[in-house]
Amino acid sequence: MASPQQIVTIDGPSGVGKSTVSRAVAARLGYTYLDTGAMYRAVAWKCLQEGVSPDDEQGVARLLNDLDIRLLPPEREGDDVRVLVDGRDVSREIRTPEMAMAASRVSALGVVRQRLTRMQQEMGAAGRIVAEGRDTGTVVFPRAAWKFFLDAAPGERARRRAEQLRQRGQEVDKEEILAQIIQRDRDDRQRTIAPLRAAPDAIHIDTTNLDLDQVVDLILSHIRQK
Ligand code: C5P
Repeated sequence: MASPQQIVTIDGPSGVGKSTVSRAVAARLGYTYLDTGAMYRAVAWKCLQEGVSPDDEQGVARLLNDLDIRLLPPEREGDDVRVLVDGRDVSREIRTPEMAMAASRVSALGVVRQRLTRMQQEMGAAGRIVAEGRDTGTVVFPRAAWKFFLDAAPGERARRRAEQLRQRGQEVDKEEILAQIIQRDRDDRQRTIAPLRAAPDAIHIDTTNLDLDQVVDLILSHIRQK
C-alpha cells in the first residue's frame, strides 16, 4: 500500500460538500482526486440498466463479473469526474437523486464493497491521493496520514445538494431532497459492512457555517501542521 504520508481521506454524510472540497484540496496539493461514491453510483447504474434489483446480491455479483468502471478527469475544471461503465459515458446519468438512492442500496452488499474497496486501494497504491466517500478513512485507507470527517446540519446539506442539482439544470423539490438525504444517511450509518462513521483518528469539521474556501483552508492548515 502507498506510504500513508501521501493519502488524505475525506468522509461524511450526503450533501455536506465533500466532492467540491475534496476536488479543491486535491488541486491545491497536486494530488489525484478519487470519488468513491461515483463508483457505487456506476454499479447502481449497471443494475438499473440490466434490470437487476440493487438488493439482489447474487444478481449484482453476476453483473460485477464483467463490469468495467473507469474514472477520468472532468472535461472542465470544477465538474464532477467522468465515469465510464463498460466504455459508455454515464457521467450525467449517475448524478440524479434516484441513482443516489440505488447506489446506497447496492453499497450495503458485501460483494460490491469488497470489489470496489480493492479497486480503490489499487487506484491509491501510488499515493498522492485525496479519497472521498463514507469509509475511506475507516476501511479503504485506514493508514492514511490525514483523515477528515465533514458534517453539517441536515437542512443546510439539503440546501447545498438542491443548489448543486439546480446548477446542473435538474428540477428540485427541497423537501424531497431533505427526506432522501435523511434516509440515505440513516441507511449508510446503519448498514453492517463499512457503515458511515468517522475514523477514531479523523479530524471533525462542522461546515454548517463555513464556506468552501474556509473548509479547504482549514483542511490544508491541518495537513501542513503534520
Ligand atoms: O457520495 P455519493 O453521494 O456519490 O455516494 C452515493 C452513495 O454511495 C452513498 O449514499 C453511499 O451509500 C455509497 N457510498 C459508500 N461508500 C463510499 C462512497 C459512497 O457506501 N465510500
